Amino acid sequence: MKTLRSYVAGQWQQADSGFAPLVDPSTEEVIVQVSSDGVDFGAALDHARDVGGPALRRMSFAERGAMLKAMSGAIREHRKELLHLSRQNNGTTKGDGSFDVDGASGTLAYYAAVSRGLGDAYLLPEGDGIQLARTEAFWGQHVLVPRTGVAVAINAFNFPAWGFGEKAACALLAGMPMIVKPATATALAAERCVEVVLESGAVPEGALQLICGGTGDLLDRLGGQDVLAFTGSAATAARLRQRDNFLNTNTRVNIEADSLNAAVLAPGTTEGAAFDLFLGDVVREMTQKAGQKCTAVRRLLVPEAAIDGVAAALGEKLGAVVTGNPADETVTMGPLATARQLADAEQGVEALTAAASIVHGTGRLADGVGSPAGKGFFFPPTLLRADSPDTASAVHEHEVFGPVATLLPYDGGAEEAARIVALGGGTLVTSVYGDDAAWLGDFVGAVGSSTGRVYIGSESSASAALGSGVALPQTLHGGPGRAGGGEELGGIVGVRLYMQRLALQGSREMVDRLAGTGEG
Ligand code: NAP
Repeated sequence: MKTLRSYVAGQWQQADSGFAPLVDPSTEEVIVQVSSDGVDFGAALDHARDVGGPALRRMSFAERGAMLKAMSGAIREHRKELLHLSRQNNGTTKGDGSFDVDGASGTLAYYAAVSRGLGDAYLLPEGDGIQLARTEAFWGQHVLVPRTGVAVAINAFNFPAWGFGEKAACALLAGMPMIVKPATATALAAERCVEVVLESGAVPEGALQLICGGTGDLLDRLGGQDVLAFTGSAATAARLRQRDNFLNTNTRVNIEADSLNAAVLAPGTTEGAAFDLFLGDVVREMTQKAGQKCTAVRRLLVPEAAIDGVAAALGEKLGAVVTGNPADETVTMGPLATARQLADAEQGVEALTAAASIVHGTGRLADGVGSPAGKGFFFPPTLLRADSPDTASAVHEHEVFGPVATLLPYDGGAEEAARIVALGGGTLVTSVYGDDAAWLGDFVGAVGSSTGRVYIGSESSASAALGSGVALPQTLHGGPGRAGGGEELGGIVGVRLYMQRLALQGSREMVDRLAGTGEG
């Protein structure tokens, strides 16, 4: 059986013990095995710090941008194969696989374009210079310089390709070498992504290493110049961020965690483009990747008077979803990725039913179209309704990572809707649908601090809106509180994580020359 390998200190390494099996979630067949036993994590860090980091820092932003473009090209060139691996190991439909794989190549290509605006510089000036004395003989300018440590990227199981691509784009553009660790259960596509990128020769030696399997003592060895960019559950994040060495050395830690995202229907929105967009977005966000997206919608706030009609309309659309093996062309939603995810989703719906009733679906394992009966981790779209949002604590606290959402009534007030959204403790994205700019303004003002992004669906955006669940590289991905408090993507915002801010002081002439901020 094929064994996934790690790429460490310039070599592919294959373990000979400690294997975990990876399965096809549509058939439960074991497809490959994985283990990081025998990896020397200290050697990986030394290689990144001593070889990869210096090589990247010798490159200008423009040269690093060219590297990202070549990485994007390598992933695009192997798109078909990667989509196949994604279906095998993640159970994705073609569209869901493309969301991951094309998301990776697209994000790398976007950051290659960002680098063009940074030119041939080595330092990144930030903001305008400031006169610090009576004349320009004493002047200040903030600049960003690459941190000289290692960026360790730990990713969640649901985006093996995009998770790699979006973190690599920002870390490598900043000039930091990277060690990427995909979630063990779905490492198949991530391993191949890294392999095709390395084979392309785009990346200097030591700039990109891969760990398939556990991280051993890797995290114990991180210090003040290193960055941990973590994506996964809030529970794992809470454990990781408390490590003594992180606290003692101020290792920079960025967390992208769970999120009880909400979609809010503004009052009076019962027909028209904004209403249709709401229904379409909610169904897509519930069922794309079988609801296994951190940006998927979990809570649906609907004015009391409209909630029966919305429940019926959503039920009808969800009833048209075909759950099964994506190898069957009639299937529109694949399985959950692992047996653990299936068990978590079943237990999660059970927890929600303490405060909510199921109005569509079963919240339990089902047979899948195109798979043998009793095989596969299939879970039908499940819609619940809780009529008392304030006492439905499970709905605001328990993220069911599957095609599951709960309807909640509210009184139509913008502040009231924002208050209920905030019960989620901080989210990645809040979507709101309506055309009344005054109401939307009140809502955005009230909800803004409890979410990382507000997606406004209105008649004027309906023809072009991409859906609330797409984490675009141009705009911020991350949210406050429970969502982790992290900031990724957002153009140059995501690159800053991997750079040190430095206040440069001296004469204006000298500062401008060093920072590249002078005229011409
Ligand atoms: P998870 O169980 O927290 O695992 C996430 C990653 O952490 C995996 O790579 C896992 O590796 C690793 N990990 C776990 N314990 C570790 C430890 N002690 N030391 C080092 N690494 C450790 O989460 P998941 O089940 O993969 O992903 C689902 C969750 O991720 C959901 O809650 C979802 O909301 C969240 N998510 C958030 C975002 C976002 O951008 N905010 C995006 C996607 C997913 P192993 O697989 O080897 O255990």
